[in-house]
Amino acid sequence: MNFQNIKEQDQKYILHTYGRVDAALVKGKNARAWDADGKEYIDFTSGIGVNCLGYSDPQWAAAVAKQAGEIQHLCNYYYSPQNTALAQELCQAAGMAQAFFCNSGAEANECAVKIARKYGESQGKWKIVTLQNSFHGRTLTTLAATGQEVFHKDFLPLTDGFLYADAGDLDGIRSLLEDAVCAVLIETVQGEGGVVPMDPSFVGDLRRLCDEKDVLLMLDEVQTGVGRTGHFYSYQGMGIQPDVVTSAKALAGGLPIGACLVGEKLRNILKPGQQGSTFGGNPVACAGAREVVRRVSDPAFLQEVAEKGQYFRQRLEALPQVELVRGQGLMLGVKLKAGDAHDILVQCAEQGLLVLTAKDLVRFLPPLTITREEIDAGLDIFTHVLREVNEK
Ligand SMILES: *Cc1c(COP(=O)(O)O)cnc(C)c1O
Repeated sequence: MNFQNIKEQDQKYILHTYGRVDAALVKGKNARAWDADGKEYIDFTSGIGVNCLGYSDPQWAAAVAKQAGEIQHLCNYYYSPQNTALAQELCQAAGMAQAFFCNSGAEANECAVKIARKYGESQGKWKIVTLQNSFHGRTLTTLAATGQEVFHKDFLPLTDGFLYADAGDLDGIRSLLEDAVCAVLIETVQGEGGVVPMDPSFVGDLRRLCDEKDVLLMLDEVQTGVGRTGHFYSYQGMGIQPDVVTSAKALAGGLPIGACLVGEKLRNILKPGQQGSTFGGNPVACAGAREVVRRVSDPAFLQEVAEKGQYFRQRLEALPQVELVRGQGLMLGVKLKAGDAHDILVQCAEQGLLVLTAKDLVRFLPPLTITREEIDAGLDIFTHVLREVNEK
């Protein structure tokens, strides 16, 4: 089927919840992808930070195919060796105690909210502080956690009990904590909010404040986690340990998975029957995730991510059309002096480069395995597009 047929079918049969770009990707290799008409792209999106080992990594694909050929799913009433092995490997990589597996970032955050409510229950605390400009998912509870009104509109009422603070405003958070708060949930780099990194000293101070007030510190590492920032989880570069970590996107390298990790203090906080998911911990997804954790938690791999991130950033900063670059590792956003970010995204796709936006920034989440040659090829196209925009 050619692109026009695909587009017509999509228009007719898919609910239009996405503003789609005119490209139907059918094949990929590391940071290169090809569309239904055979056109080649450099991919700086990795499917919104999902394909951390690039497209169709041979070892990852073999691990997944092997598991699919052995046993593809089992009910959570039985033990699953892939599930338990992943839990051990992930907890070790994260410095956490136990994992609950689900299928997405929103579900991982839902689980974190349930854990927080259960933790606070005996003290009559049930509210959760999140940050303005945050993004935590699309369910009614994670939308409530999301501190951006644009996502709430048309879907009220949302789950009760979320309070919003400004990033960096420790005094503001301190006063909110007086109001029956059991947990604080933040992203260390706000992704959808425009690639906004938190000051590590703010995160450290927040850790101490939460300890002082017996409030859980929960980190949404759905976008920042699994190597993206040059650390396995971003807090590992901040010298703190959270009480709860949520993870998804890149965790299984392109298969649906979510995880909610808890620290020692919360061991066995949820009891049998209090949380569950039919597909959660699915062995095929776990086989993919084990390959990801094995490769990405290697310090040499993480060092490479940090170095490639530096290189990418320096090349962006050298462009005269760039006003500023924000982010960490291979999670980068650029604000441009001229041109609308979404128009630039569309023009990049026309020229064979896939990028994302976040608010008014052009956002880059390339596969962590991207080569310098692929970075150069993509940034050459980006430079060309920016020149054309500035000539208009
Ligand atoms: C993408 C994202 C989510 C939601 O994840 P889904 O898998 O789409 O439910 C939650 N939090 C953050 C920080 C994200 O980037």
